Amino acid sequence: MKIAVFGTQFYEQEYFNKFNIDNKHELVFFEESLNSKTTHLAKGFKAVCVFITDILDKNCIEKLAKLGVKLIDLRSAGYNNIDIKSAKVNNIKVLRIPAYSPQVIAEHAIALILTLNRKTQKAYNQVRENNFSLQNLMGFNLYGKTIGIVGTGKIGRAFCNIMLGLGCKIIAFDIKENEELKQKGIQYKTFDELLSASDIISIHCPLTPKTNHLFDTKAFDKIKKGAMIINTSRGAIINAEEAIIALKKEQIGYLGIDVYEKESNIFFKDCSQIIIQDDIFERLLSFNNVLITPHQAFYTQEAVTEIAKITIKNFTDFENNSVLENEIK
Ligand code: NAD
Repeated sequence: MKIAVFGTQFYEQEYFNKFNIDNKHELVFFEESLNSKTTHLAKGFKAVCVFITDILDKNCIEKLAKLGVKLIDLRSAGYNNIDIKSAKVNNIKVLRIPAYSPQVIAEHAIALILTLNRKTQKAYNQVRENNFSLQNLMGFNLYGKTIGIVGTGKIGRAFCNIMLGLGCKIIAFDIKENEELKQKGIQYKTFDELLSASDIISIHCPLTPKTNHLFDTKAFDKIKKGAMIINTSRGAIINAEEAIIALKKEQIGYLGIDVYEKESNIFFKDCSQIIIQDDIFERLLSFNNVLITPHQAFYTQEAVTEIAKITIKNFTDFENNSVLENEIK
């Protein structure tokens, strides 16, 4: 099958070619993102393979359907960037990677927590300049602290298990409670209860109309003063503009984000030689208690290998008319 791979990242071709055994599929790699302005690139392809930076809204999907595209295959777990309804109406199948390594995202959330808390990035820079003072390096014990998990799916559960190992008390909020976690003694709370009781809140729910700006001024006003918020899920779950207000009031004590609402203009690119026009992002960067990573939580050798393997399997399943186990219905 001939597949147009959009938003190709520098590391991806090597991994895809490795698992595309005997060149079974003809993969054409585009660095460009797929959106309603670039659909012409999909001409002549039955399938498109997309990344989180590609925006497939109704307009884009209708154009793809006219070009004869029958498959959208996501190289991600989240699918908030695809209009699933339009794909269905236009008879286009949408496949994704439901799980490639939930642990790896959970581990990155822990990295954000530990860096913010123990200030390892500050210590690293300071020690290189022969400054061995402890001033400004004080952290707090994680042991015994209350961690609130929003979304106890695959990643939330992996995160929960690590935090249990660190001796934390875990509470959770989800629209669907998980029995396995309940058996481990995890208590489900309402969203407001979780906000007011947690020392650290970690977000692991998908971006949906209901979770869009779930963390806004109303929510920030309910958190414990000085609590830490971690987001490795999707940027728009946090209203960044309102987070800045809460940071200035010292209501949010620490903010660790691997995702940002308008990240597609900035992330996955080297912007070191240009002037970033996003003032909200620049203000976030200016806080010494905000840690931003460029949507890298998934970026480990193991996870990238799994993504390539499952993506190729999705192509093959579709081509062979097999059961599409990774279809988004
Ligand atoms: P999952 O489907 O296994 O779990 C999501 C959980 O969120 C489910 O338990 C669901 O019931 C819950 N949920 C849904 N709506 C909710 C709501 N309104 N309020 C509270 N909980 C709600 O998904 P997962 O594999 O754990 O992934 C979670 C998210 O992580 C993905 O949707 C994706 O956006 C993000 N993600 C980020 C990266 C990264 O590199 N930063 C990588 C992979 C996934």
